[in-house]
Amino acid sequence: MDVFDRIGADDYEQVVFCHDRRSGLRAIVAVHSTRLGPALGGTRFYPYQSEAEGLEDVLRLARGMTYKAAAAGLDLGGGKAVILGDPAREKSEALLRAYARHVDALGGRYLTAQDVGTTQDDMDLIRRETRFVTGASLDLGGSGDPSAATAYGVVWAMKAVARHVWGDTSLAGRHVALAGVGKVGRALLGHLVDERARVTVADVSTAAVEWAVSQYGAEVAPVEKIHAVDCDIYSPCALGGILGADTIPELRCAAVVGSANNQLADASACGLLARAGVLYAPDYVVNAGGLINIAEELLPGGYRPDRALTAVRRIFDTVTSVLNVAEADGVTTAEAADRRAEHRIAALSAVHQIRPPA
Ligand code: NAD
Repeated sequence: MDVFDRIGADDYEQVVFCHDRRSGLRAIVAVHSTRLGPALGGTRFYPYQSEAEGLEDVLRLARGMTYKAAAAGLDLGGGKAVILGDPAREKSEALLRAYARHVDALGGRYLTAQDVGTTQDDMDLIRRETRFVTGASLDLGGSGDPSAATAYGVVWAMKAVARHVWGDTSLAGRHVALAGVGKVGRALLGHLVDERARVTVADVSTAAVEWAVSQYGAEVAPVEKIHAVDCDIYSPCALGGILGADTIPELRCAAVVGSANNQLADASACGLLARAGVLYAPDYVVNAGGLINIAEELLPGGYRPDRALTAVRRIFDTVTSVLNVAEADGVTTAEAADRRAEHRIAALSAVHQIRPPA
């Protein structure tokens, strides 16, 4: 890969390769943008097939964080980190603390958090070497696992979509097909039952499905058919890339509102969804609750759960605005979300040029 061509094309500010021979650390930190604030994004610990694959993933994810933070109205930029390796075999205290010292050396340009392959306990270890970490335990001044906040944000995104489509924010009696009953899906299922929605679930984990049935009386669909359930809202909360030419014609829902990252399989998916008459609530707007929750740690007074929940509920307004702009401007909802993010970055970058005399 011609690295400077690749990072130049999408205007990355900084890409850092971190190494520690003794602990076996091999990590890449990508800072896409600090134009709105420090670049925040999780650390993914994953057994990539190659270094190039790890680099491509961290670049793509870091840029995504820039858009997610900007669209959510946060004073944060976009960044991400990957640790190359199998967390089950290679994760150790020494490795995480070596990694943390590299994060510390970035001086606050990059703030890390949990992601696939890392946990709150890992953030607690990282916290022992650097203050540039979020999502550590409440005891350490962190906000803990963001999944509950993410699920809460998805509910408010669904309410915004419900008002847009059916003229009423209520989810009572609405049928939601929920793919993935993991950390986000479980919490979301609880909220939906509280809202008196009807929920059909699917998960590759039998234990997760059994839990949903025994705990909430959820209905069940096969994993390969959950997207085709005749319902009001399809909510992908497992893997990305699930909206493509193979699945979109089979959708039997009015809207897609879920937490999974990168739901669109490719650039043609948006057009296909529009033609199928399915409203797509852009994933990074819908699933910003976790990030909004984490951002609260950085505000005066530190993390306060009540203030964080209020902030997460604003996803309702953001989704409403994106849907209205898409309709008014005749663009896809994904395009409207991107424009919202880019507009905010440009507008506030101009503001930041106003400086007091040195
Ligand atoms: P998780 O790993 O806890 O849960 C994922 C669930 O999906 C698991 O129960 C798993 O068994 C199931 N699953 C895997 N493959 C499946 C398939 N093909 N069909 C149906 N189910 C399948 O993850 P999570 O933290 O709940 O996150 C869910 C999604 O939301 C991910 O795409 C994640 O990137 C995204 N997300 C999560 C957060 C967060 O705060 N956790 C924030 C933003 C976005």
